[in-house]
Amino acid sequence: MRIKTLLEKVRSAWIHRVAHDLARGAGVRENFEKELSRFFSLFEQAALTGDPSWLDPILYDWANAPTETDIAEGQHNLSTIMSRASALTFDVAKENLSLEEALELLSATSALFAYALSKAAHYESDTRVSHISNELASIQQKLEQLDRSKSNFISVAAHELKTPLTLIEGYTSMMRDLLDKENKSAGQLLEGVQNGVRRLREIVDDMIDVSLIDNSLLSLNFQPLWLNNTFSLLQNELLEICNVRQLTLDVRAFLGSDQLIFADPERIYQALRNVLTNAIKYTPDKGTISIDGRLLPGFIEITVADTGIGISDKDQSVIFDKFRQLGEASLHSSGKTKFKGGGPGLGLPITRGIIEAHGGTIWVDSPGYDEKACPGSTFHILLPDRSEATDPKVAKLFRDQTLPNTP
Ligand code: ADP
Repeated sequence: MRIKTLLEKVRSAWIHRVAHDLARGAGVRENFEKELSRFFSLFEQAALTGDPSWLDPILYDWANAPTETDIAEGQHNLSTIMSRASALTFDVAKENLSLEEALELLSATSALFAYALSKAAHYESDTRVSHISNELASIQQKLEQLDRSKSNFISVAAHELKTPLTLIEGYTSMMRDLLDKENKSAGQLLEGVQNGVRRLREIVDDMIDVSLIDNSLLSLNFQPLWLNNTFSLLQNELLEICNVRQLTLDVRAFLGSDQLIFADPERIYQALRNVLTNAIKYTPDKGTISIDGRLLPGFIEITVADTGIGISDKDQSVIFDKFRQLGEASLHSSGKTKFKGGGPGLGLPITRGIIEAHGGTIWVDSPGYDEKACPGSTFHILLPDRSEATDPKVAKLFRDQTLPNTP
């Protein structure tokens, strides 16, 4: 009981002293005194019962509402308040009690202050962690919003660019028709314009595709597909550029390449074309690009290997992110299939979007980047070997008749 008497003796002096020491401004001090009075009552209960957890609720409240206990401009945190309050208890006890009483009070309360201090630090770190994770969540939200706005902008800009582009395409092809066959130099100039416009259209189409993929709006048209058929079409399209660059394009037949699967043929063609044009772009003249693969349970794996400059370990994980071309942007040439000719960095993100929309996956393997040794890269594509059409009408058609393989 004696401890209760001692605490009562110092109560008002303690509240006044702590409030005066920590709070700035009369209004703030008055509120703080009320809080300190509540604290003191709970402190008393804790001392009398020997149970320090009486202090938990108020410490929790203070740690979670630091505003007023910031004590105006004082900028104190709960731990400094607690350690200051503990130190001031010694002064107050000395001034208001006999030496013997002061020592008794201090020995009875020091463990409680130690408890309050450690609890304060604990609650504070919890509050700080939750504050930081709230901040991170809000930053994440802002970034997502920014990414959506960027993607919307890209989509609008690309659609706006399409209209004049179509006009230029139309007029140049009409001019070509009208052009006198003898006028060779004008014909060459016009061909240059048409090549530029074609490249521009590819970029605009890529921008639209990337925004479709970003917004999960890529819709697939599942049709029967034989991969060896797609490879032959690609081989035909890329033959000329491979000849110019003296590259060997080696397409191997593998188990699964002649199997009927259901996929979006145009999109698969586009995805493989992106990987192949990259292989052409990043392989020096006279190199080799091989298409191979194998049948796995539930999947067909396609590999595109080249003898090019390779990709470093750290870059292998970022090249599938949009706008992540690795070369220096200012050095990028517009020649899509020239050695190291750059693009806007949309090819692989689109390829990944297409493959993932099919339920597949894509990754790259490379011993590293070396422009002299040319260690090469191998792109792996896993494509589900879907043998049933998703469209019931197409599925019925295929149940009723078996289509021949027409590579
Ligand atoms: P880009 O329009 O720049 O070709 P991509 O998305 O197609 O964009 O490719 C991203 C980057 O990945 C390229 O800039 C290049 O640095 C790297 N890359 C892609 N394919 C290969 C490859 N076969 N060999 C070496 N680097 C490659």
